[in-house]
Amino acid sequence: MAPASANVRRAAIGARKKIENFPTELDLTMQFVKWTAESLEAVHDEEKVAALREASREMAGLQESLRLHVAALSEVEIGRLAPNEGQTFAEVLHSRTMELAAQDPRTPEDYEGFKAFNKAVWDVNHKGELMPGEEEEDIVMTSKDLVANAHCPLSMKAVEELDEPVCARDCRHIYEAMNARDYFGQGLRSCAVAGCNKQVNVSVLVSDSRLVRDLQELKRNKRGGRHTQHAEDYTALDDED
Ligand SMILES: [Zn+2]
Repeated sequence: MAPASANVRRAAIGARKKIENFPTELDLTMQFVKWTAESLEAVHDEEKVAALREASREMAGLQESLRLHVAALSEVEIGRLAPNEGQTFAEVLHSRTMELAAQDPRTPEDYEGFKAFNKAVWDVNHKGELMPGEEEEDIVMTSKDLVANAHCPLSMKAVEELDEPVCARDCRHIYEAMNARDYFGQGLRSCAVAGCNKQVNVSVLVSDSRLVRDLQELKRNKRGGRHTQHAEDYTALDDED
């Protein structure tokens, strides 16, 4: 296989950058779908819950095809993958994604968002019981495990109450942005969370969609779980068509 030209590699980088945030964007949407389904499950609207389960499964399937595309594009970027004579780029990407899928097959059930959907809907009416087919050890994480630290080590505020939460990219410890900028503004120093030795500077403080999603989940859990707003929104949408 001929090595990819510099132009092709640049194009691959651009394409990958465009799609690399989609999986987490999809996660946020799946979270909303899950909350909606919890509300509907509570009122035993089985038909709508089933429709939302399908939507969640499809989104997990999309996450899977994005994963494969990102992996194939990364190989183009590093020059490992390029079209042979007479082969288009679309063809080589397609056949590579098929190979990758065969090497490491994943189903929607392997995706956190879809697992969380099934678990959340089950818990509405079967809290504390194992789901059919579930083992004691695959109990999905609790809200305690959602975030790496409960309080910003600098402002001491609860992480779900922060005005502008950011986290350190490697250890995922969460800070109030303003305090973190002051603290790490001078350059590299250790994460301020006790026991964490990761080196942090302002450039690795991020507010990504994973952080947004986890803090939303935490806030909602602390408020005492499901509220009916999502079900009302869903019903309102339904009435319009
Ligand atoms: Zn840390």
